[in-house]
Amino acid sequence: MSSPLRTVEEHLEDVLGRVRSVDAIEVAVADAAGLTLRESVRARVDLPAFDNSAMDGFAVRFTDVAAAAPGSPVPLRVVADLPAGTGNDPALATGEAARIMTGSPVPTDADAIVPFEDTARGLADSLDRIDVQRAPRASGAHIRRRGEDARSGDEVLPPGVLLGPLQRAAAAAAGVDRVRVSRRPRVVVVSTGSELVPPGRPLERGQIPESNGELLAGLAVECGAEIVLRTTVTDDGDGPAEVVAQAQELGADVVVFSGGVSAGAYEVVKTSLAGAMSFAGVAMQPGKPQGFGALHDGTLLFGLPGNPVSSAVSFEVFVRPALLAAQGRSTLARPMLRIPAARGWRTPPGRRQYLPVSIDRGDPAGWRAVPATSGGSHLAGGLGRADAYAVVPAEVEMVGAGDLVDVMLIS
Ligand code: AMP
Ligand code: MG
Repeated sequence: MSSPLRTVEEHLEDVLGRVRSVDAIEVAVADAAGLTLRESVRARVDLPAFDNSAMDGFAVRFTDVAAAAPGSPVPLRVVADLPAGTGNDPALATGEAARIMTGSPVPTDADAIVPFEDTARGLADSLDRIDVQRAPRASGAHIRRRGEDARSGDEVLPPGVLLGPLQRAAAAAAGVDRVRVSRRPRVVVVSTGSELVPPGRPLERGQIPESNGELLAGLAVECGAEIVLRTTVTDDGDGPAEVVAQAQELGADVVVFSGGVSAGAYEVVKTSLAGAMSFAGVAMQPGKPQGFGALHDGTLLFGLPGNPVSSAVSFEVFVRPALLAAQGRSTLARPMLRIPAARGWRTPPGRRQYLPVSIDRGDPAGWRAVPATSGGSHLAGGLGRADAYAVVPAEVEMVGAGDLVDVMLIS
């Protein structure tokens, strides 16, 4: 009799309990794409750095133009021109204005901006006289205030964020050029199976193209990892243990095996790494057989089932959270969405189902989950249509067309 299955949560808790943080390093913001921040980014300057104009127009004294209207324009003398980058702070007496471009520092004597379109002739106005035809809303109109976004010393980004383009730009805007981040976790990807040949090669009977290497290396890179070794071993011999030794020499943080962990006669990961990993059944479909272990030096060993959909789902559910946790990422879970199923499907009893789906986004107010495969864990081609997994609770036996399902977004 086989031992009872453990839940996904139990297995994930075991995995996360063995994760060790990778080292923090300091890098240029420009080199931090896809890395996880380890220490807050604090503004080095006020944002904005000085009071500046939000419009192209004229810097004025509000009281001079408070009564301006189309029928009673207010004439002002233009005494200065302030292009972006100017350091000038011209004095403005009553009845005077400075032409000013967006982003230029507002003169100390001005307290409002009149956009070109509120003057008689706009940009075509002569540089020495304008007629203001509409009063600014109030003192301060169209002025962006120094520090209104952040003050020097304020936290602009908290630890744990992924440094995408928006975050790196925020750091740059705050005057920051270097950040403390997690170094990339070093990952080894190992495919197991005597039937596997490199894709593109003619197949002899019994052979199939190796595809999990591409899958798992790609998914790991998307998690910020660096692939230090990618290899395939056969089902005989001690290949897995040999690769683990090699992985340790390479300073790997994580070794991901696919295949060789289920209940067949030639389960090479199970036999070769019996001492270093334990093997369990998890109440999920696909992905039931899972191998996991941690070496003394902290290296994590994952033994994922070899069917391509099983490997992909297992990576999502166990390896991805581990890689993100090792980098100190604050959010480990994928975003979830609850949407109707476009058509129904059967689900396995007693196991949580992860079904590859593509999200039909035709109606922005009515996204629907369309099964990308019929559910078989070997349907590697169908995986190529998926951009999400429908996650169906163990106790649900059947999903009907129109039923709301939880969907995990993976792209
Ligand atoms: P296993 O978990 O080793 O029993 O493999 C289950 C199924 O997945 C078998 O049909 C294997 O041929 C297939 N498989 C295992 N590893 C790979 C791989 N790296 N690429 C493509 N298919 C694989
Ligand atoms: Mg195999």
